Amino acid sequence: MKSVAIIGAGITGLTAAFYLKRKGIPVTVYEAGERGGGVIQSIRKDGFLAECGPNTLLETSPKIAQLVRDAGLASRRLDSDPKAEARYVVRYRRPIAMPASQLGIFTSELLSAKAKFALLREPFVPARRDGKEESIAEFVVRRLSREFLDQMIDALVAGIYAGDPYKLSVQQAFPRLVELEARYGSLIKGQIFGARERKRRGEIAKDRAPKFSFDEGLQVLPDTLQQHLGDSVKLNTPVTKLTQMGDGWLVTLSEGRVTRAPDSAKENGDSCNSSLRQFEVEHSAVIYCGTAYKLAELKVETSKKSGTALTPSLSHPMGEGGQRPGEGKPFDFSPFSEIRYPPVTSVVLGFRREDVTHPCQGYGMLIPKIEGFKILGTIFSSSLFPNRAPAGHVTLTSYLGGERQPELASRPADELVATTCDDLRVLLGVKGRPTFQHTMLYPRAIPQYNLGYGRYRELMNAIENQAAGLFLAGHYREGVSLGDSIVSGCNVVERVEKLLTAK
Ligand SMILES: Cc1cc2nc3c(=O)[nH]c(=O)nc-3n(C[C@H](O)[C@H](O)[C@H](O)COP(=O)(O)OP(=O)(O)OC[C@H]3O[C@@H](n4cnc5c(N)ncnc54)[C@H](O)[C@@H]3O)c2cc1C
Repeated sequence: MKSVAIIGAGITGLTAAFYLKRKGIPVTVYEAGERGGGVIQSIRKDGFLAECGPNTLLETSPKIAQLVRDAGLASRRLDSDPKAEARYVVRYRRPIAMPASQLGIFTSELLSAKAKFALLREPFVPARRDGKEESIAEFVVRRLSREFLDQMIDALVAGIYAGDPYKLSVQQAFPRLVELEARYGSLIKGQIFGARERKRRGEIAKDRAPKFSFDEGLQVLPDTLQQHLGDSVKLNTPVTKLTQMGDGWLVTLSEGRVTRAPDSAKENGDSCNSSLRQFEVEHSAVIYCGTAYKLAELKVETSKKSGTALTPSLSHPMGEGGQRPGEGKPFDFSPFSEIRYPPVTSVVLGFRREDVTHPCQGYGMLIPKIEGFKILGTIFSSSLFPNRAPAGHVTLTSYLGGERQPELASRPADELVATTCDDLRVLLGVKGRPTFQHTMLYPRAIPQYNLGYGRYRELMNAIENQAAGLFLAGHYREGVSLGDSIVSGCNVVERVEKLLTAK
């Protein structure tokens, strides 16, 4: 059997490859970059551990814990400190603890009396039944209040998507809210009555899910999966073209920074030039686990013979010539370039414990835009997990940029450290200079499931349904969290297995 090609060695690609290999299906993972893990990157330096990308993994599905066990990492798993459950939201320019119970919001300073009254009224607000797509902002104002949007949801959206609540589609980015409204007529009723249903399905709500990492940070997970996969992972090997042929796919690789072709590759003399050498490898199927914008750059030729070629272009749903699916034009992947990934910079700072007035006991603080700070939020990294800072120190991880101030993310590192310190001085009573600093710019960080995103998902479904043997998985399709990517990697294995069994 020819191996299954997996494009991208982020957590989605490595999860898919790991499980396919365990099932005895040969795999080859092609990664454009020089390391595996994608946006996950944990750096140990001077006794501090900096998580540049994701900080925590939420166990929202049993598949996540299963992967940890299957990878042999149960003993290296670190659950977050139960004392670190507190989350803060900034109001009146200071962090205020979110109430531990849902009823606690009525005694909290986080909302005014008017906004609390709107919460009580929510179960009586008629549910919208016309199916019209709404932004998360419209949805929240309609069901709750403008204050709830500005104070709570704006902060939450910055924490998850680094996004803009006026642009994010509630249907695409927060489908559970729409489901609760449709099913129970109310978010509050849905919270209460939906809990039993979630338990039956083995799902855990994101706000209740256990949070965890590993002794040496999240990078431990992709590193371990990569070790299990051994030579099957080809780093510095970008895929540039996919050609459907007969029973499989021809994958064209660009040499990138490698000095020799991957073992199974044969050199393609025709497309060879002095600066960029290309190689072609045959595979039984391909799973694309990269980013949406890189998917738009891939040249993909589907076979006319199999009747899979079609043009569901978003701007011209029937194709420019009025063609219908199946009429022999190649898929148009260019619409995926429209998916927005705003830039985000993470700023990890270490301070002496005595230089931070706030106890920083908890998960961290979320900051709504109306409070006027530059940082989007801060994770109290060293209170969440042990061994993130040397004795007598704290590690604080803050984020800048996103849709709120995209231009800020690419400012020089020293300026971003100073900006972060200015905000932390007001919010947490930080004094003096940090004893440790590490910044990392993600020029295109997190895909925004904005209004209209459903059309991209329809295009993904159409591609997968009709270009037999080409599968799409990852953060741009099935949710933006690390846990969603793991589940996406697990799910695609089942679809690939079905295809190979049918063959
Ligand atoms: C700053 C930041 C903080 C985050 N914080 C959290 C958090 O705390 N908790 C959480 O749950 N989630 C968090 N997330 C989200 C989460 O980390 C991601 O959704 C998840 O890691 C995405 O994994 P992936 O494998 O789908 O994609 P990626 O990690 O983007 O990996 C895709 C890989 O594909 C490769 N690739 C692309 N095109 C090609 C090609 N043509 N050929 C070969 N290789 C290619 C890329 O080089 C890359 O390595 C955060 C994300 C960011 C950016």
